[in-house]
Amino acid sequence: MLSAGAAAQVPLGSDVKARAQPQASHYIDGAYVEDTDGRVIDCIYPATGEVIARLHSATPAVIERAVASARRAQGEWERTVPAERGRILRRAADIMRERNHDLSVLETLDTGKPYQETIVADALSGAEAFEFYGGLASSINGECIPLGESFVYTKRVALGVCLGIGAWNYPTQIACYKGAAALACGNAVVFKPSEVTPLCALQVAEILVEAGLPKGLYNVVQGYGDVGSALVAHPDIEKISLTGSVPTGARVMAAAGEDIKHVTMELGGKSPLIVFEDADIETAVSGAILGNFYSTGQICSNGTRVFVHRDMRAEFEARLIERVRAIRLGDPLDPETQMGPLISAAHMDKVLGYMQLGQQEGARLLYGGERAEVEGFEDGSFVQPTVFTGVSDDMRIAREEIFGPVMSILEFEDEDEVIRRANDTGFGLAASVFTRDLQRAHRVIDRIQAGTCWINTHNVMPVEMPFGGVKKSGVGRENSRAALDHYSQIKSVYVEMGGIDAPY
Ligand code: NDP
Repeated sequence: MLSAGAAAQVPLGSDVKARAQPQASHYIDGAYVEDTDGRVIDCIYPATGEVIARLHSATPAVIERAVASARRAQGEWERTVPAERGRILRRAADIMRERNHDLSVLETLDTGKPYQETIVADALSGAEAFEFYGGLASSINGECIPLGESFVYTKRVALGVCLGIGAWNYPTQIACYKGAAALACGNAVVFKPSEVTPLCALQVAEILVEAGLPKGLYNVVQGYGDVGSALVAHPDIEKISLTGSVPTGARVMAAAGEDIKHVTMELGGKSPLIVFEDADIETAVSGAILGNFYSTGQICSNGTRVFVHRDMRAEFEARLIERVRAIRLGDPLDPETQMGPLISAAHMDKVLGYMQLGQQEGARLLYGGERAEVEGFEDGSFVQPTVFTGVSDDMRIAREEIFGPVMSILEFEDEDEVIRRANDTGFGLAASVFTRDLQRAHRVIDRIQAGTCWINTHNVMPVEMPFGGVKKSGVGRENSRAALDHYSQIKSVYVEMGGIDAPY
């Protein structure tokens, strides 16, 4: 929620849009870099359709410069005492907290997400990542394995230059999550934001340098998918961490396989949210609302297949619709607004297509289903929060990732049945179970095929919790100590303490 302190800083009027234009498109070796030969990237404010900044996609020269600066800086960074690496990351966290208001306004302009969300969810989660990995930097240790007099010791060493490729839904958070873990382990980073949301990562890069990060260790390169492909194939990139869709993940993983590069894949989902008949109804409805409509439904781990027990369904739907009706759509910069537009007009068309498809497939529309009219924002990509019931497992709205505010309610009768149906998907990112029965909660979650699970809540993601998917939803984990394993590798050293013999 918006704090009094944040509200007092305002400038939340239309004039803030004029300040969205960055100094230049890319941030390389501690400075802004421009190359106007690159294809134009128009950054559009999704609430109004206005172009608020104009940038350029990276040319081959820009890509080379970014990777070369990262390569140059990485060796010394890896040899920097870990406690010093940690101090720099923690200073970056402090700066992000101090600038939370400005960073949140920028996140709102970049994505259209309401300021009420961005002020609590974006720069602050980035700051938490810098704090967390800053604290862990000194504890990235190996082990000593005694073997009689001789012994083996291991070290966790950096991978080298890591490429981060971001999706458009959480541009600040993704830039920080990938950067914090990579830098703590002694790597350098080249980050390519989605071309739809190019603004926020540049601020992250600036803040890191201000916090004392040596130049060249965190570079931001803008571009379309072709820039991503060129970076993925670059021989000086050792690891790729992608947040994006499954088809992009498949392409990037295949390309990375050519050179046996390390990968982390944070991909899409169609996660189940299971409500048993004994669940606390307000908690379950809150979980379903947060798990479908926060960020206008543009969250990979959303629980878009809401399985509700037959005995609970009518009551659940009645309470849900009462609350969904009250969601306030509007000006994203108004602190009272709860739901903003979708990221773009093209994405809105896709989501509206699924809203129509649900009705054609025979699902019953309980609420929404159309473009939303917001006074003063007629060209914005607003859609109504939408709820379908009577959804069956084979409908496309229950099988495909929509990435918008579209909830499908599916009725079930018993535990084995709902587990089987919940697992009947190629995705495996997340899942949640709502019940007051402690044993059932653990029993069911244990059998669900998903990497990130919740009991009696949904989409809570503290940095301490490993995050990632199974099946087609991904490979590797972000956040928590687990991410350190994906940004470093083990080097083992056998130390012979006696003489050695040879058979010939
Ligand atoms: P995309 O897969 O379209 O794009 C992701 C990123 O990859 C973009 O920066 C994109 O650049 C880039 N890219 C596209 N093609 C290539 C390529 N061949 N090589 C290298 N890079 C490439 O995803 P969206 O941006 O549309 O984001 C939505 C998706 O992200 C959803 O599926 C969602 O579930 C997933 N997601 C997953 C999360 C997770 O943690 N599991 C979190 C958030 C979102 P460009 O945009 O310029 O084409």
